[in-house]
Amino acid sequence: MKIDKALEAIEALGDNHVATSANTPLRDDAFTLSDAEKIELIKKDVHHIMETLGLDLTDDSLQGTPQRVAKMFVKEIFSGLNPDNKPTASTFNNTYQYGEMLVEKNITVYSTCEHHLLPIVGRAHVAYISNGTVVGLSKMNRIVDYYAKRPQVQERMTMQVVQDLQEILGTQDVACVIDAKHLCVNSRGIRDIESSTVTSEFGGKFKDPAVRKEFLNYIQLDTQF
Ligand SMILES: [Zn+2]
Repeated sequence: MKIDKALEAIEALGDNHVATSANTPLRDDAFTLSDAEKIELIKKDVHHIMETLGLDLTDDSLQGTPQRVAKMFVKEIFSGLNPDNKPTASTFNNTYQYGEMLVEKNITVYSTCEHHLLPIVGRAHVAYISNGTVVGLSKMNRIVDYYAKRPQVQERMTMQVVQDLQEILGTQDVACVIDAKHLCVNSRGIRDIESSTVTSEFGGKFKDPAVRKEFLNYIQLDTQF
């Protein structure tokens, strides 16, 4: 009975997508194995899952799946767990003295829900007000992508993007809004295909309602070519 209750609590936490920490919960020994060693182990695990489900792993179509999934986990969709893959942050001096808000919007987000290991797909909008230091525009896309490539909770991802940029730019004046669909909500469970989740983190000057409004207005601008 006790175990049933514990399992129920664990399921409820996941289905409600409650984040328990601002940092990705990683163990200290997370990177003692090499990527190649991890791929070898995960390959066996995926094989075991598929076999347990009753699939015939000798079938031509399924034969390569364990290897493909293991490589995809380590090298692609969860590659942002490894600090070695963190984008290098080269900054520049703001010599042209642009003191207004800079917004990089509609950054594509492909992440994975850490409670169900199903995709999170959406858009991130990132803004900062320079205090003298600027980063290349594509850097913001790369930072979003780095934190997206982990088992994630959307609130945490939003905070991690802001915290990282605050560190790189040496200012608190950074904001991020993410609007994303969670396939664990859209395709299973409640099966609501229309709903999306919006999360935001406003640092420094972005806590001022007028500054925040300016940022939100830019996000809504429709860029036509
Ligand atoms: Zn989920």
